[in-house]
Amino acid sequence: ALGRILALLNADHGGGVEGGEARVVGGAVRNSLMGLPVSDIDIATTLRPEAVMERAAAAGVKAVPTGLQHGTVTLVIDGKPFEVTTLRTDVETDGRHAKVAFSTDWKADAERRDLTINALYADAEGEVVDLVGGLADIETRNIRFIGDAARRIAEDHLRILRFFRFFAYYGSGRPDAEGLKACAAARSKLKALSAERVWSELRKLLGADDPGRALLWMRQVAVLTEILPESERWGIDAIPSLVATEKALGWAPDPLLRLAAIVPPDAARLEALSARLKLSNSEAATLKAWAITAPVNDEMTSAAFERLLYRNGADGITTRLKLALGVARGKAESDLDEMARSARLGKLLDQAMTWKKPQFPVNGADVIAADIPSGPRVGELLAVLENQWVEENFASDRAALLARLQQLAQ
Ligand code: ATP
Ligand code: MG
Repeated sequence: ALGRILALLNADHGGGVEGGEARVVGGAVRNSLMGLPVSDIDIATTLRPEAVMERAAAAGVKAVPTGLQHGTVTLVIDGKPFEVTTLRTDVETDGRHAKVAFSTDWKADAERRDLTINALYADAEGEVVDLVGGLADIETRNIRFIGDAARRIAEDHLRILRFFRFFAYYGSGRPDAEGLKACAAARSKLKALSAERVWSELRKLLGADDPGRALLWMRQVAVLTEILPESERWGIDAIPSLVATEKALGWAPDPLLRLAAIVPPDAARLEALSARLKLSNSEAATLKAWAITAPVNDEMTSAAFERLLYRNGADGITTRLKLALGVARGKAESDLDEMARSARLGKLLDQAMTWKKPQFPVNGADVIAADIPSGPRVGELLAVLENQWVEENFASDRAALLARLQQLAQ
C-alpha cells in the first residue's frame, strides 16, 4: 500500500519539483531504522494538498482532507490511513502556535522538526535522506534537537516534554547535555501550554516500556515538578520496581498506573491534578479510585478481601495491589518478609482480577411489597440488609433475605 502511494505521488517526478516528490518521514523512518515496530506512516511531499487530492482521485484512492490548513490529506488504501503533508517552513511562532508556509524545500522541512531522529526521510526507493545528522544519532541513540536547542524550545515549549518522551523511548546513556540545559532553562514556560498537549505528551512518556530514567532526569532539572508538583511530596522511587514487576508478570505498560505511583493517594489532590491536566472522565475516575480505596492488608483472609472488593470496587484495589506488589518485590531480593508479602499480595491480586461482583438479590420494590411505606426508611432498610449480607459473605439467598426483611420491618 505504501509503495502504491509513493508511486502515485511521485508519478512523473523527474528530479524537478513540478512533478512532485514524496518521502516517508518521522516516526516510521526512525522506528524501521531502529528495528522497532512502526505504528503509523507519515508522508511528506512537495505537492500542494489540492494536487495530492487530484492525484488520489485520478488513481481511485480515497482521500480525506483531514487538515488542509496544515497541508494534510489522509489517503486510505486497504483500510490503512497515510497522512500526506505538504512540506512546510516556519514563518513565525510564539512558542505555542506556529505559522507555517508551504514549500518545496526538503531541508527547510527537516529543520522545522524537533529532533534529529524525527527528521529522516525515506524516498520511494527506500533510500534514507538525512539532512540534519539524524542517522548518527539513531546509531548512538542520542536524542538531540535540530539546531540551537534553546531556540527550538522557544518556538514550541512542548518540545521540552517531547525531548524527555523520546529519550524515554529511544534514548540511551545520558540525555544530550545542551538539550537538557535548554529544557531546564525554559521549564517555567511549560505552564503556558494547553493542558491537552501536556497530558497527551506526558501520557505517552509514562507509557514507555521504562519511563524511569526519563523521569529521573526530569526531576533532576525540575521539569517534573513544573508539570506535576504532586510528585514532589511522593517521589518517583517506586517506578523501577513497578516496571520490573510489570515485566515479570507480563502487565502492559499503563500510564495511569505509573502516574498513580508518583503522586500521593489523596483524593482531593488527585481530583485537582485531573482537572488541571484535563484527564478524561474515565482516566480521572481510575486515578481517584486508588486514593479512596482503603489500604489493603495483605494478611487478610480471602473472605474478608471479598468484602473489601464488594465495598470498594475491584479497580481501585487492583491498582493499589499492583503498586504495593511493585514495592514489595523491589525489596524482596534482600528481605524474606517482603518476599512472603509479595506472594500474599500476588494471590490477592489474582483474586481481585478474576473477581465478579455478586448481585444483591433484594431491591426497593421488595421492601415496599413488605408493606413498608416508601420514604427514607426503604433505603435505610436495604442498606442494613445488604450490609448483613456482605458481612456473612453473600451466603443468604433471596428467600432468606426477604424473610429477614420482614423481621427488620417489624
Ligand atoms: P510516534 O507517532 O511514534 O509518537 P512520531 O515521530 O510520528 O512518533 P508525532 O508526534 O506523530 O511523532 O509527529 C510526527 C513528526 O512531526 C515527528 O517525527 C516530528 O518530525 C514532527 N513533529 C511533531 N511534533 C512536533 C513539534 N512539537 N515540533 C517539531 N516537530 C514536531
Ligand atoms: Mg506519528
